[in-house]
Amino acid sequence: MSDDLRKEAASVAQALRRKLERERALGSGELVAAGVARARREGIPARSNGAVEHRGSAASMQSPTVSRRPEPVSVTAVDSPAFEPPTPSTDPEAFTLSPPEPHVRARKRSSHLTAVVEEERDELPPFTDDLHASALAGARDRLAVEAFPVLESVAAEARACTKCGLCTTRTQAVPGVGSAASGIVFVGEAPGADEDLRGEPFVGRAGELLTRMIAAMDEKQLIPSVKLSRETVYIANVLKCRPPENRNPLPHEIESCSPYLLRQLEALKPRIICCLGKFAAELLLQLKGTVSGMRGKTYRWRGAKLIVTYHPAYLLRSPSAKRPVWDDLQRLAQEYLTD
Ligand code: SF4
Repeated sequence: MSDDLRKEAASVAQALRRKLERERALGSGELVAAGVARARREGIPARSNGAVEHRGSAASMQSPTVSRRPEPVSVTAVDSPAFEPPTPSTDPEAFTLSPPEPHVRARKRSSHLTAVVEEERDELPPFTDDLHASALAGARDRLAVEAFPVLESVAAEARACTKCGLCTTRTQAVPGVGSAASGIVFVGEAPGADEDLRGEPFVGRAGELLTRMIAAMDEKQLIPSVKLSRETVYIANVLKCRPPENRNPLPHEIESCSPYLLRQLEALKPRIICCLGKFAAELLLQLKGTVSGMRGKTYRWRGAKLIVTYHPAYLLRSPSAKRPVWDDLQRLAQEYLTD
């Protein structure tokens, strides 16, 4: 062999060695080596890429390179992040009752209101022990007794009232139910069909839900030593008469009827007021907004604390809102127990 041929053969061998080293570094070298070794063991001719030529059935004619491809499942299990089921949302904004744009405005206004309420906090009368149901040897019970004739008087006036057009469509007025015994007042929107027939607020499906909410607060001892039931809290509405077809209250109806509610609240001297829905909140807080924008804060109404939560009728339509409502009821209890 001439020197030129030897140099060329050495050059080819060196190039081949470098190629194999590169492929080994990339991982294909092991495959090639394994294919060659297997071919040697089994006496089967091997291709230069390491694939083995099988003899026999059509099924066995498949290239081992293909048959060795990792199963898609195992590749996915290694390379993809594990699937995490979504956790329940605790964001109250997820349950907004209004379109986004008005909601944003409401948040701005309610923030302003919070600031106003905070500024006024020092001017408001502080909570006193005699407004707490468990304090001072039944002072709350005495307050309930004193409030009773006022509540009866308001009820009688409402039943005879003709100040707005709802008197022509109602079966009867629905003044309120309960007592000042616990110092907690729930204020809703207006009577529905069941309430209109029975003359008592919150007795339909939404009312049953409110009763269960109060019972749950009692069962969980959210306010220890204070019995919570429809008898120990007071339940009333902004309107005392049912709007036809359960439509929303009209501004002039709220203006005509709200003095009854205000007189009830003055007699009850609540420690805390829970507004159920936007109409009660808008009246007592004197602002426009959505429930989702107003809830989650503690306001003051004269000498009482005030919180806002969803109306039970909304919970019937949107059961997922029960979670934020339970949060609100816990806030109610916490505020009740602190000055
Ligand atoms: S809704 Fe109120 S103001 Fe109107 S008739 Fe009834 S009690 Fe009177």
